[in-house]
Amino acid sequence: MNTESKIWLSSPHMGGNEIDFIKEALQTNWVAPMGSNIEGFEMDLKNFLGEKSNHVTCLNSGTSAIHLALILAGVVKGDEVICQSMTFSASANPICYQGATPVFIDSEPETWNMCPIHLEHAIKARIANGVKPKVIIVVHLYGMPAKMDKIIEIASKFNILIIEDAAEALGSIYKNKKCGTLTQFGILSFNGNKMITTSSGGALLSKNSKDKERAIYLATQARENEVFYQHSEIGYNYRMSNVNAGIGRGQMIVLDKHMALRRANNLFYQNLFKDIKGVSVFIEPNKDIVSNHWLTCIIFSKEVEITPNSLRLSLEKHFIETRPLWKPLHLQPVFNKYPYYGGSVSENLFLNGLCLPSGSNLTEKERKRIQLAILDAFKK
Ligand SMILES: *Cc1c(COP(=O)(O)O)cnc(C)c1O
Repeated sequence: MNTESKIWLSSPHMGGNEIDFIKEALQTNWVAPMGSNIEGFEMDLKNFLGEKSNHVTCLNSGTSAIHLALILAGVVKGDEVICQSMTFSASANPICYQGATPVFIDSEPETWNMCPIHLEHAIKARIANGVKPKVIIVVHLYGMPAKMDKIIEIASKFNILIIEDAAEALGSIYKNKKCGTLTQFGILSFNGNKMITTSSGGALLSKNSKDKERAIYLATQARENEVFYQHSEIGYNYRMSNVNAGIGRGQMIVLDKHMALRRANNLFYQNLFKDIKGVSVFIEPNKDIVSNHWLTCIIFSKEVEITPNSLRLSLEKHFIETRPLWKPLHLQPVFNKYPYYGGSVSENLFLNGLCLPSGSNLTEKERKRIQLAILDAFKK
């Protein structure tokens, strides 16, 4: 068994053309946070996202994209920012960079994303408490689009801006629109385990060229347009490298293909778990939305004999990586002092779920190995 190679949850998957774009960057000496690959990658993303009104700014991470979106939205010390609780810590960390207070919201059970009912309740409660939240950060977790119509309706009723964290949702669709483009700001991530990778990287999606200009200015140390170095504001070193952008351009060529492969993995798991009682595969709840199925997750009902953790441990023996779902942020030691609105939906998802190997590079042979190992674990 130990001659078998490890099957990862989600690992980088090159298309083959990345090296040509990197070579071009090296040969032209554009090994810098500027150059034609950055503009090319931004154009590729803009075309992929569809709407003419989208502006794309490539940055060195998804986290810095969230941080700049909060700054562009005017979030400052003392403000409150509403954030989905069930997500990666990077969704909320930048709220604290700004000295603002995160207010966490529970998930609803259909998409696992922000619950519109708790959202509205929280906004009213915060206003009654004396502070109207400035921004809502909604996440399309595991690539599953959130209930955007309802969330947008509530946000507009109270005139609150929305940032879509589409770090895991590149390619996912909500009612014919790509995730990340439905509201004033969206963000993407190109970290090693995401839909596409630039080793590290991210993008800010915005609706007008002024926001893009200001994002680039803030991402390049807020240097003003003078021959000498002139600064009137605090800046950041957040721009993407031209070498990394070259990897991104190569990855864009295979994005549609890789998304189809991840969706095929989800179908594979649907078939596999069809006959395993009490375990359900996370799928789109309706036809309005298309998930990229970045990661396929399963949920155990109370009747199942084995626990998610025992399945995880038995797959580990077969060198197959699985992982618990994101632990809700309101339960994290670093965030549990902040306000939380909701019940135990996200907590129960965390306790009863598991993420399965979902890479676009999974081979037929590896899927067979996964199938045998899972069936074996449930037989015992
Ligand atoms: C990965 C991720 C981020 C952060 O992106 P980085 O590029 O790793 O900084 C933010 N939010 C979510 C939901 C993520 O999964």
